[in-house]
Amino acid sequence: MKRYSAFAVAREAARFHMGWERAWASPEPKPKYDVIIIGAGGHGLATAYYLGKNFGITNVAVLEKGWLGGGNTGRNTTIIRSNYLQDPSAAIYEKARSLYETMSQDLNYNVMFSPRGVIMLAQTEHEVRGYKRTAHANALQGVTTEFITPARVKEIVPIINLDGPRYPVLGGLWQARGGTARHDAVAWGYARACSDMGMHIIQKCEVTGVRSEGGKVVGVTTSKGDIDCNKLGMVVAGNAGHVADMAGFRLPVESVALQALVSEPIKPCMDCVVMANTVHGYMSQSDKGEMVIGGGTDGFNNYTQRGSFHHIEETVRALVETFPMVARLKMLRQWGGIVDVTGDRSPIIGTTPVEGIFINCGWGTGGFKAIPGSGWGFAELMAKGYSPLTDAFGLNRFYEGRFIDESVAAGVAH
Ligand SMILES: Cc1cc2nc3c(=O)[nH]c(=O)nc-3n(C[C@H](O)[C@H](O)[C@H](O)COP(=O)(O)OP(=O)(O)OC[C@H]3O[C@@H](n4cnc5c(N)ncnc54)[C@H](O)[C@@H]3O)c2cc1C
Repeated sequence: MKRYSAFAVAREAARFHMGWERAWASPEPKPKYDVIIIGAGGHGLATAYYLGKNFGITNVAVLEKGWLGGGNTGRNTTIIRSNYLQDPSAAIYEKARSLYETMSQDLNYNVMFSPRGVIMLAQTEHEVRGYKRTAHANALQGVTTEFITPARVKEIVPIINLDGPRYPVLGGLWQARGGTARHDAVAWGYARACSDMGMHIIQKCEVTGVRSEGGKVVGVTTSKGDIDCNKLGMVVAGNAGHVADMAGFRLPVESVALQALVSEPIKPCMDCVVMANTVHGYMSQSDKGEMVIGGGTDGFNNYTQRGSFHHIEETVRALVETFPMVARLKMLRQWGGIVDVTGDRSPIIGTTPVEGIFINCGWGTGGFKAIPGSGWGFAELMAKGYSPLTDAFGLNRFYEGRFIDESVAAGVAH
C-alpha cells in the first residue's frame, strides 16, 4: 500500500485526487483462519494489528456485524488519560497513552492525537482526598500527574466557574500529557494497516453462533456462513454477554447506554479536557470548534444506541454550573453507545472456559483511551498464552475476589 505523505497529498492535488487507493479491502471470508476476532471496534482492530506486527500472525479475520468503528469506538468523547489508581490499570492505560504518542507515525495515518491535558475537578473533600491519593499512586507507578489548586485550575481553564452554586472547585487532578485523538481515525488507521498485512476485515458479517468440539473452539457461524478458526477473540463491548452466551459461558458484565452530545462550533475557548465528576459532565473542544460533552449512563440495563431527553437536561445542568457560557450554546447532536460495565469498573481480558476462546470486554465507559495498550496485551495473550499487561484482568479474579477497584477513576461517566 502506498504511504501517505506530504508529497502524496501534493501529487494527488495535482491530479484531482484520482489516484488514492482504497484504504482497506473488502474481501469475502475464507473457509478458515488462524485467528478470528469478533468486533471491528478499536480494541478488535488493534488486537489484529499487534498480532501481525509483534507476532507475525497475519492469517486473521476481523468480523464486524455493522461497519468498522461503528460501535462505541465511533461514538465516544475521545478522552485519553492514564491516571488510574491500581497498578495493573496504570500499567495498561499508560502503555496505551504512550502508544498514542507515536500512533500516527506507526500507522502512517493521522489519528490527530492531541495531548492537550486533562483535569479531573475535585468538588468535594472526598474527591480531594481521592485524587491526592491517585496522584501519589501515579508517582509510584511512573505516571506523571499532579494535584493542582483552584487558582491553577482557573489559569488553565479561564472559562471555568470556581464557585459553582452546588459544589465549588477545590482543586483538580491534572495530567498534562492526557488529551484526545480522532476516534474514527484510530479505527481507520488500524484497519488500513491490518489490510496492508493481508488480514481480512469483513464488514456486515454478524457472528450468530460459536462452534466448539470437545471443549475447544473450531469456528463461528455468521451471516456469511460458517468460518473455521484455531483461536477466537471476542471483542464486542456492549454485546459481550450475548456473544459469550453463544459459546456457553456467562460474564459478570452489564450493558447500559452511555450518552454524549455536541454543540455548534464556536471560536477556540478551552484548550484542555475538563471532567466534573461530582456534578457529572465533561467537556472538550473539537478541532472544528464544537464543544464535545459527555454525560452519564442510563440507570437501567438496555441496548438502545441513542440519546434521551433526561440526559440532556442532567448533563447540561452540570455544565452550566461549571461553565456558565454553555447556557448560550446551541446543541447540534446527541447519541448513545452500549457500554459493558463490570462490578469493579475494570476490563476483563483473558482466557475463557472454552479452549481457544479469549475475551476482551468490560471497558465500560472508558475504553477508548486503552485501545493500543489493550490490543498490544491481548495480542500477546492470544499469541503466547500470557501477557504481563493483561494477567491481572482475567475472569478468574471474580471467583478469587481479586478485584481491581477503579470506581474513583472510572466509576463515573468514563
Ligand atoms: C458516549 C460515549 C462516550 C465515551 N467516552 C469515552 C472517552 O471519552 N474516553 C474513553 O476512553 N472511552 C470512552 N467511551 C468508551 C469507549 O468508547 C469504549 O470503551 C471503546 O470504544 C470500546 O471499544 P471496543 O472496540 O471494545 O468496542 P466497539 O467499538 O463497540 O466495537 C465492538 C464491535 O463489535 C461489533 N459486534 C458486536 N456483536 C457482534 C457480532 N455478534 N458479530 C460481529 N460483530 C459484532 C459491534 O458492531 C462493534 O462494532 C465512551 C463511550 C460512549 C458510548
